[in-house]
Amino acid sequence: MSTHSVPASSAPVSPVSSAPVSPASTSISVLGLGMMGSALAAAFLRAGHSITVWNRSAAKTGPLVAQGALPAETVAAAVEASPLIVVCLTTYDTVSTVLGPVADRLAGRTVVNLTNGTPAQAREFADWTAAQGAEYLDGGIMAVPQMIAGPQAYILYSGPRPAFDAHQETLAVLGGTKYVGTDPGLAALYDLSLLTGMYGMVAGVLQAFALIRTESIPAGEFTELLVPWVGAMLNSAPHWAESIDSGQHLTNVSSLAVNQEAFPNLLAAFAAQGVSDELFAPFQALLDRAIGEGYADDGLSRLADLLDRRR
Ligand code: NDP
Repeated sequence: MSTHSVPASSAPVSPVSSAPVSPASTSISVLGLGMMGSALAAAFLRAGHSITVWNRSAAKTGPLVAQGALPAETVAAAVEASPLIVVCLTTYDTVSTVLGPVADRLAGRTVVNLTNGTPAQAREFADWTAAQGAEYLDGGIMAVPQMIAGPQAYILYSGPRPAFDAHQETLAVLGGTKYVGTDPGLAALYDLSLLTGMYGMVAGVLQAFALIRTESIPAGEFTELLVPWVGAMLNSAPHWAESIDSGQHLTNVSSLAVNQEAFPNLLAAFAAQGVSDELFAPFQALLDRAIGEGYADDGLSRLADLLDRRR
């Protein structure tokens, strides 16, 4: 994926914005009261909204009902209770299973689906809800449940701008609202791209812990060096982004040739210290391919081009 992958039809990404915490009361139905759905419903309740809740396992409605939510015995009853339906279930397949039987009740309502999924799933589900006469916003939650309604939580939204504008103030009680475009798949694309960055970091940090502790050095002690180091290296991201956007990857800092020659030392140390290379061996293969394709003088940013199979 290049950083230019936002379709021309999309609005520019708006900055994360927060609305006042007490917008006018709105009736909202929340479908799915797992860890995340319960946090969302509780935040709506605290902001003074009228909330109807439904969950497959009815017992999970208890704590929210104690806080003032209305329990719905069926999905149909939950859908009919509110013009705004917030869905947070395990997968899109689950969402289809839950909403499919009540398709004829959705017309005129807005469905905000905060279930994690792919851009293709979001687009397919947007088409399905449109066919039922409903508005659809797809969302990607960039927070864990404990962060909901806190200062660091934000949610990515995509879909029709008027639907987002109509509900932004209400949705802002969950955290910052970041609208990323009319294409309903974009929230998932941004979400998964951000998670990709996170998992890459997690993989590197965990590998580092696995390596350092082979000599009985405590992970906690090593953290004092690791955290500032990773943070400083992350400061290179804007430079890589500039190279990726411009297509100019030549560098005088750390060429692919230098990295390709140094990286085997990591793999050799893993082997010698008894640490698996299953996370890192593919990176060596990618460096080797980059050199094979003639990019020895380029910087690491070139690897993003090599990963993009459309090129
Ligand atoms: P949970 O596992 O805690 O909850 C899953 C929910 O889906 C429950 O309400 C469960 O009902 C329901 N469900 C599962 N299968 C079915 C089914 N066949 N029919 C009806 N309902 C079903 O997950 P979370 O609440 O943590 O996550 C929900 C979504 O939010 C996921 O897409 C997740 O990726 C996303 N998310 C979660 C984050 C987190 O940190 N937890 C962070 C960001 C996004 P029941 O209670 O009956 O099992």
